[in-house]
Amino acid sequence: MDGWMGKLLHVDLTNAKIAQFPIQPYAEQYLGGRGIASRIYWETVTPEIKAFDPENRLIFMTGPMVATGAQAANRMSVVGKSPMTYPEGYCYGNIGGFVGAELKRAGFDGVVIEGRAPKPVYLWIHDNEAELRDASSLWGLGAYRTGEMLQQAHGERAHFLTTGVAGEKLVRTAVIAASHQSASSAGFGAVMGSKNFKAIVVRGTGKPSVAEPERLKELNRHTVKISKRLRLSIPPMVASSNHAHLLEVIGKGGCYQCGLECIRGLYRYGQRLEGYRKCQSQGYYLPWKYSREDEPVETFFDAPTLANDYSIDTWELESVIDWLHACYQSGNLTDQETGLPLSKMGTREFLEKLLHSIAYREGFGDVLAEGLVRAGEKVSDRARAMFPYNLAPIGSHDLFPPRVFVVHALLYPMEPRLHHNVLHETAWVYVAWSFNQLEPGTTPVTIKVVHDIARSFWGSDEAGDLSSYEGKALAAIKVQNRNYSRDSLGLCDFAYPITYSFNTPDHVGDPDLETKIFTAVTGIVGEELDRYAERVGNLQRAILVREGRRVPEADFPPEYNFTEPIEAIPHFPVTMAPGPDEEAVDIKGKILDRDKFTSMLKEYYRLRGWDEETGLPKAESLAALGLDDLLSTFQ
Ligand code: SF4
Repeated sequence: MDGWMGKLLHVDLTNAKIAQFPIQPYAEQYLGGRGIASRIYWETVTPEIKAFDPENRLIFMTGPMVATGAQAANRMSVVGKSPMTYPEGYCYGNIGGFVGAELKRAGFDGVVIEGRAPKPVYLWIHDNEAELRDASSLWGLGAYRTGEMLQQAHGERAHFLTTGVAGEKLVRTAVIAASHQSASSAGFGAVMGSKNFKAIVVRGTGKPSVAEPERLKELNRHTVKISKRLRLSIPPMVASSNHAHLLEVIGKGGCYQCGLECIRGLYRYGQRLEGYRKCQSQGYYLPWKYSREDEPVETFFDAPTLANDYSIDTWELESVIDWLHACYQSGNLTDQETGLPLSKMGTREFLEKLLHSIAYREGFGDVLAEGLVRAGEKVSDRARAMFPYNLAPIGSHDLFPPRVFVVHALLYPMEPRLHHNVLHETAWVYVAWSFNQLEPGTTPVTIKVVHDIARSFWGSDEAGDLSSYEGKALAAIKVQNRNYSRDSLGLCDFAYPITYSFNTPDHVGDPDLETKIFTAVTGIVGEELDRYAERVGNLQRAILVREGRRVPEADFPPEYNFTEPIEAIPHFPVTMAPGPDEEAVDIKGKILDRDKFTSMLKEYYRLRGWDEETGLPKAESLAALGLDDLLSTFQ
């Protein structure tokens, strides 16, 4: 099997047993990554199992592209029952950097962890071998110190994933932190903690075989060439803070075998400090947002590393800090009530105290450690009233909002979490268009290019028009399927798809690029890729329905989308958006139209082969995909 290493590791922590089993039966149906991990979840994590039960699984799965030499092929999915979703349920995360590729090089496509170790352990994987080791000396350490100690023990070239104190203390928003500043959300750090499982460290010297190596090299050259796009060097939340001058990009922050343009980079802060940073985590604590003009740049620079070291989700922290700020300003929470120096918000002192209290579950930090959505059950009515309208258990319900990006009104509710990966494809085209409006040389994306992209990638010209509902159901399916296959192949969502380019004659990217790479690596015909994606989408539907998702009601975005007119798009530099033909349309005041949304949803169901009224997959659709065993869930 070109592309796959051919085997998975199964680790039973309760009984300290490790076994290997073949990946082939899973790969034939579900490809890899999120696909296979979700199937194993389906088979092993029944609805009554809680996130912190030993029976919960943590399933780490790479894909058949990882470590093959394909550009940006290094992603590893993590699947399990999440303590962060509300209620607890199936969820997934995604880790970049190097650790997934290293796992393949060590001979394994994935690792399934179950049980609870009687005392702290970590898993050492090296060239087709794996063993559990005592982690007592690592327990209580932050993620960075743990990584240092693991690399001292297993060599500088070893890669790892771990969790800090927040994970050990079962903070529901704890992340898995991996080498090269990568992290996976969904509270899986706390699941590691619940299992007394501190880390995986891995080192390998092998690599997967490739069906057509010369063709892959040719495709890599093509990928690098057309990947020249807008360099989003300064994250939008930093740029809009008027302190962008403090940041400078001085190098790439490339993950394993990636030479593509990316927002992950080596940054210089205030002309002195340097570090690898990426996107939202870089800007979650902007002291100046809280009127701290005299706060040194170190506070801003250190904020992501402090959060990573404790292993607390930075999306969650951004929501928590903004909420505390709103409560303090309105007199609904005080320093005395919380034990936190709210009056010093924006300072390093405040951030350190907040992170420590959450990670160690001390005082009010114990309430916040449940995640802001659950904290709502424990705070006063007045404080709860200050929750943002778009609060979500993971991330925010309003990133690239459905009221403007109509296709997102379908993409958001279909997933168990805010999943940036699935929004990136469409949103970045519009971000590129908005930059073109401000300064035409920054990107080549005019309205004409938006519509050309819509035809090539999303199935119709209308799909690019943000003023209508036409073409959006098909666009949602195409975007989702690309996302399911990308997460199953192990390709990076920052890199793929390449929708626009400076280096193609019409500035449209290559909609078939991932399919071509898939065939070059595995030798499997490209048409199969869409069928794998369809299986993953239907499997996810089955898991969510089995865990109590009520459809079609749950397929509607939150109510405010239908009632509250939007004023502006967060972090979006213009208030216009591409409309039909060559027209731009004003997005101010937009809401979703309920009737049009309902028709669009039914069209989506129909195109998916699901019943138009119930939203459940039809028996013949499942049979055509070889998924008959899912049918009983829907009856
Ligand atoms: S595009 Fe960026 S995030 Fe993706 S693999 Fe490359 S460097 Fe990593």
